[in-house]
Amino acid sequence: MSDIVELSNYINGEWRQAICEHWIEDYAPATGALIARIPCSSREDVDAAVTAAQDASHGWASLSILERADWLDKIADSLEIRAEEVAQLESLDTGKPISLARSVDAARSVANFRFFAEQGREFQAETFEMSDATNKVLYKPVGVAGLITPWNLPLYLLSWKVAPALLMGNTVVAKPSEMTPMTASLLAEVMEEVGLPIGVFNLVHGNGLDSGAPLTSHPDVDLVSFTGGTETGRQVAKSASSGFKKLSLELGGKNATIIRADVDLENMMSSIVRASFLNQGQVCLCGSRILIHETIYDSFVEAFLEAVTDMTVGDPSDEETELGALISEEHRDKVLSYIDLAEEEGGDILCGGGAPIGIPSAFENGYWVSPTVIDGLAPDSRCATEEIFGPVVTLHPYSDDEEAIEIANMTDYGLAGSIWTADAEAGSLMAEKIDSGMIWVNCWLHRDLRVPFGGVKNSGVGREGGRWSLGFFSEAINICIKH
Ligand code: NAD
Repeated sequence: MSDIVELSNYINGEWRQAICEHWIEDYAPATGALIARIPCSSREDVDAAVTAAQDASHGWASLSILERADWLDKIADSLEIRAEEVAQLESLDTGKPISLARSVDAARSVANFRFFAEQGREFQAETFEMSDATNKVLYKPVGVAGLITPWNLPLYLLSWKVAPALLMGNTVVAKPSEMTPMTASLLAEVMEEVGLPIGVFNLVHGNGLDSGAPLTSHPDVDLVSFTGGTETGRQVAKSASSGFKKLSLELGGKNATIIRADVDLENMMSSIVRASFLNQGQVCLCGSRILIHETIYDSFVEAFLEAVTDMTVGDPSDEETELGALISEEHRDKVLSYIDLAEEEGGDILCGGGAPIGIPSAFENGYWVSPTVIDGLAPDSRCATEEIFGPVVTLHPYSDDEEAIEIANMTDYGLAGSIWTADAEAGSLMAEKIDSGMIWVNCWLHRDLRVPFGGVKNSGVGREGGRWSLGFFSEAINICIKH
């Protein structure tokens, strides 16, 4: 019992329990053990957080962008000192391998604050000259920002929103996923440690219906940035629309990985496997449909299966582990139900399909699925077009570039994709014809934080990243001065 942590909301610079005194339990995915209780916040808690954010708005907005950039650096410094703690908490809370939590989650969370601090220092508002007038553009804060994040990259995605929101002069109410609350609380501790003015950053824990929905519909929340599933995004869009809030939706994906006949498999295979299974396939950008030129189909499948079955699945705290557990029992069951569906749809399970064999007894109650590769499915089957968000990949042959593009565009999603080829020019031309927000050629998740990030179709609305984040988290105002 003593190892179970009780987390609090952070509102107006105070640590508070939910007014209703109800709790949500948080489990470690690798073992199924109860590790924390978080406040099951409701409308009253959200109201208090929004009021605190509103009260802090004027003071925060009156700082210059350079002063706010300095605050971001202070936050980054303090977070960096606690990077190992972030990695340990993230690995425990999500079930992901510690090596990944260190190299991606902890490192990127610090990098997000530093990156946006730098963006603030380089920021130049435009002027547009006319023959008889000058147009000045001002970037004003929007107001109170409601930030809602998912469980797969908890602090990484939260910091991606908090940093630009603060930089542009907004105050924040953050609502992280109830399944991974640990590092959001750590971030609130960091805000307190660095002495960020009270009410500028507020944290409300809780589930989607009781605390997420009151935040997105709150009349005094001016902007909503949401990352999560497409169906939830639809509800968020509805609830935010009546108040005409600024809205950014980063939603689900079903991304294609296209392997052209000229691919250098020997050098590219480890990256293709990483694109398929990083974080147990629980990255919105993972390539979960691999389209392979028919002339190399058999040789690709053989090499791919060898690489996939070679991966070390198990104890997330072991440095050698490459794949950990899935986030929850419910999510594990959803992933397994798609594997059953694949068999009904005529697919062959080439590897995986269930819990890893021989998992140590300490992990028997965790939520495990070994990396699963399926072929023989039609490219328009449900398993090949719906988001599974787990370690499951389907394989499909194609005959020429046009057919690969047609299959890639065969889903309602349009988030990301990758193309693997010795002919970078041909890959780039193919990329232009794919309906997705981001396409990588001969790489994957190779991120320059200055570029636009976001999806088309059911994968979202709006763009974040670099100047797109600065634009979204501000109101551009034109002042036209006649000479
Ligand atoms: P989810 O939609 O279930 O939950 C996301 C967040 O929304 C959580 O904090 C949840 O509590 C909250 N929420 C739930 N219902 C709500 C409501 N009615 N109103 C307001 N908030 C509500 O998503 P998830 O299962 O946590 O995350 C997985 C999904 O996120 C996948 O679909 C994945 O593709 C997507 N995702 C997208 C990106 C991207 O950048 N496009 C990045 C990561 C994850």
